[in-house]
Amino acid sequence: MKKKEIQQLKTELSSKKKIVIVTHKNPDGDAIGSSLAVYIYLKKQGHNVQVIVPNEYPEFLKWMPQNEFIIIYEKHKTKAKKLILEAELIFTLDFNAFSRAGDMQEILEKATANFVLIDHHQQPDNYAKYTYTDVTICSTAQMVYHFIEFMDGLDVLDKEIATTIYTGIMTDTGSFRFRSTSSTTHRVVADLIDHGADNAFIHESVFDNNSLEKMQLLGVALNNLKIIPEYHTAYITLSQKELDANHFKKGDYEGFVNYALSVENVILAAIFVESKEDDLIKISFRSKGSFSVNKFARNHFEGGGHDNASGGKSNRSLEDTISYFISKLHGYKIELSHD
Ligand code: 5GP
Ligand code: MN
Repeated sequence: MKKKEIQQLKTELSSKKKIVIVTHKNPDGDAIGSSLAVYIYLKKQGHNVQVIVPNEYPEFLKWMPQNEFIIIYEKHKTKAKKLILEAELIFTLDFNAFSRAGDMQEILEKATANFVLIDHHQQPDNYAKYTYTDVTICSTAQMVYHFIEFMDGLDVLDKEIATTIYTGIMTDTGSFRFRSTSSTTHRVVADLIDHGADNAFIHESVFDNNSLEKMQLLGVALNNLKIIPEYHTAYITLSQKELDANHFKKGDYEGFVNYALSVENVILAAIFVESKEDDLIKISFRSKGSFSVNKFARNHFEGGGHDNASGGKSNRSLEDTISYFISKLHGYKIELSHD
């Protein structure tokens, strides 16, 4: 963020404002963690703040401090629309194009507020008065820490803010193991622990509340795992029938794609999940090294994300999506073939 922008934003935040914080559709730990951190921080500064998320999110994120104040757009459209239209400042966190906000896209386009964009994805749109974007930072949550630092606000860091930021960093770095986890990340996390973030409690709250059904769905997913050795590729499929048979709940297959990526010699992994409700196939891609799944998802599956983690969708049947996916791999023969 430029010095001049920091100064301007500081001035804007020096008087009480109506502020709305929004994040992307199907919010993950980074999206919810970042939103709650900014929410708690700004509320402590005396602002009138609301968090609005496009749709439901998994149970394993609902233990977070002040989670009960999050407004789900899908369920409370009238109230959410009014808040967005009346806001003076709108923070958009963990995404950088209105299209990623699902059904909220239209109302965000109508809003007259000044936008603050804080995000670590590639190719940001140009809608914000204040843009803080950096693709080298592991998580939006870490950027929220730096944002508070830019605002000279670190003295208000408390257990709740530390906990929500920690959760965002932990979930987006695969518990501090992805390449994007830097020495700065660890310094930030150390400071969060010093301010009350309980690392074991947070980890257990997110990862150790698995239902038996989720574990059995993992069994199905691992059974469906396929390897294409010549392209160092692994993929998993889950049909609607398989989801139903295991009483699928939102978030149940999150992280499954990492099992595909963990297979020896695999550099590209994918999971394809059938959604009858949305009438499409939801896809997550992961890669190791220089193969960009951001480009792959953008080019072939109406998606995007990061170089090593991205998502997309397909309107074909599950079977046809897999055939299409395999047919597209041929075009990346050189990148995917080397050992
Ligand atoms: P996941 O596979 O965990 O849903 O998403 C991985 C990454 O890709 C996340 O950073 C997410 O924001 C991004 N992503 C997922 N789906 C889409 C999509 O449809 N479009 C774009 N631009 N990014 C996506
Ligand atoms: Mn993120």
